[in-house]
Formats: sequence, C-alpha cells, structure tokens
Amino acid sequence: MGRLVKEKAILTPTGSSVGETLVWATALLRSASVDTARLDAECLLASLLGCERLDLYAATEERLPLPVLEGYRALVARRQAREPLAYLTGTKEFWSLSLRVTPAVLIPRPETEILVETALTRLGMLQGPVIVDIGSGAGAIAVAIAKTRPDARIFATEISGRALEVARENARDHGVLGQISFLQGDLLEPLWGAGLAGQCDLIVSNPPYVATSDLVALPPEVHYEPVIALDGGPDGLAFHRRISEGARALLRSGGWVALEMAPGQGHSLVKLLCDRGAFTDVAITRDLTGRERVAIARFTDSGSADPPAQRGFTVEKAV
Ligand code: GLN
Repeated sequence: MGRLVKEKAILTPTGSSVGETLVWATALLRSASVDTARLDAECLLASLLGCERLDLYAATEERLPLPVLEGYRALVARRQAREPLAYLTGTKEFWSLSLRVTPAVLIPRPETEILVETALTRLGMLQGPVIVDIGSGAGAIAVAIAKTRPDARIFATEISGRALEVARENARDHGVLGQISFLQGDLLEPLWGAGLAGQCDLIVSNPPYVATSDLVALPPEVHYEPVIALDGGPDGLAFHRRISEGARALLRSGGWVALEMAPGQGHSLVKLLCDRGAFTDVAITRDLTGRERVAIARFTDSGSADPPAQRGFTVEKAV
C-alpha cells in the first residue's frame, strides 16, 4: 500500500499511522451509534486509498499523508452523520457483483437477492425467457438476472433518469448492456409500446413498500435514500396493486410475477394477488432472517394459453 499512498499524495512526516487512524475513526463512528464502526472505518479508508480492506492490515505502521487524512476525516464525518457507507464508497456488492450506487438510487439490499433467487427458480429451464424488472433503480435485479441467465431478454423500467444512468453503467460494467433494454417511465407504462403484451415469462420488482407513516421511523441512513423508492403509500402496497394489475396484460399464461415486500405484508399481498383472480400458485419466500420477503404468483389465463410444449420448455412447479 505504501507505493499506492505515495502515488496519491505527498508523504508528510506529521501524518498518523494507518492503525492509529483506524482506531480514531472507529471510536468516532461508535460514538455515532454506527453498529459496524470498525468495518466501516476500514472500508472508507480502503476506498479512499483504492486498495483492498485487507491490505490495511499489512500497513498498520505506515503513515498516511496529510491530504489523505483530510479526505478521510471528511468521509468519517459524513458517516458519523449516518450517510450510508455505500454512497460514500460509491459501490455496493449484490449477487457477488460490485455495483455502482449514487444517492439517485436505493442501495441494493441482500434481501433482494432472495427475490432474484426465487424468480430464477420458478423460471427453471425455460429457454430465452422474456423478463421485466419494474423500478430498476441501480439495475441490481436486471444485471444479476442477466449475468445468471445469458439467454434472457430483459426489459427494465425506471422513472428516474438519474437512476437509469446508474443502471446502464452497471449493465455496461458487467457486460450485459446488450441483454437489457432500459426504458424510462412510470412502472409498466414504457412497456405498452414495446410489443410485449402476453409475451413476458416473468415480471419482477422491488417496488417502494414502506407504509408512508412508517417512513419517519426508518434508520437514519435510509433518510439519505430516494423517498420515491421507499414510499409505498398508506399500506405500503400501492405499487404492488398497480404492478399486479398491469402484469396481467404483459404475462403469457403460466408466467410469473415476483414482488418484494415488507415483513408483515404477506397476508395482504397474497389476498391482493388472489383477489385479482388471474393469479394462482401464490407463495411467500422468507429472507435469511426468517421474515416474509417475497411473494410469487403465477398468471393463468386459459384464453391466451401458450402451451409450454410449443415453446420447448418445462415450467417448474412452485415450491
Ligand atoms: N428494504 C428497504 C427498507 O426496509 C425498503 C425497500 C423498498 O421499499 N423497496 O428500508
């Protein structure tokens, strides 16, 4: 790391060592009730130096140049104010992929990996699936699916132009830009002109789902995230309603809709999907903490049935 430090700034004999600096930053972050104070202190320093976090352990005695220390102090102050770590480093890992994030996008969460996993399991061996990601944000879901299923054709919608730029960059970084059509607009709206009616095998979404009255009680970090990606209306299900309504026109018979939700919304969401008549095989998947997190349901419209045999695939039974 020494070489790295020297390349980035002029060494000064007055700088503190890496070890001392991390102890100082950890104490500050702990005083701001940051649970992962030491980890965050390390991630911020590694990000600033452009090295791996583990490289810091081999460099605890090295002295940090003053300009680096100044930059680091500024980052630590922002983290003390509970700005999310991912916005400070500009990256977040999702599905073992390093994704870019900016304050224009919701930071991808591990629970959304459960959504991707559940949806992919239902697709089974279906070849060349047509998949729609609604409200793509940083593009995490679309990029993860594209990387896992190179045969998939993906359409990703997003209302925010700034978020869409981030999503496109992520798709480009991971070499899947050609597989994903990014469309700007509200929920399913940009899809109506895309000739997709009755053609989609899967509609997946992590829509805003926090009930408006619950927004104030979210952890301080979440208040830095775009509220349009969080506010799900009075019961948190406003977007699930609109998506499940529109999904019926886009899905082929036998296609799936997979929606992330807040724990505790399962009963209402299942009822909502069943009430709409067209959905069957409704199932709830739990996240790693055992809480209800994903609802998945199958669209069955006998009128427009497209028999699996004709498309050369088998559809897995819901698990
Ligand atoms: N998982 C986020 C939270 O609980 C909410 C994400 C969303 O509304 N889609 O803060």
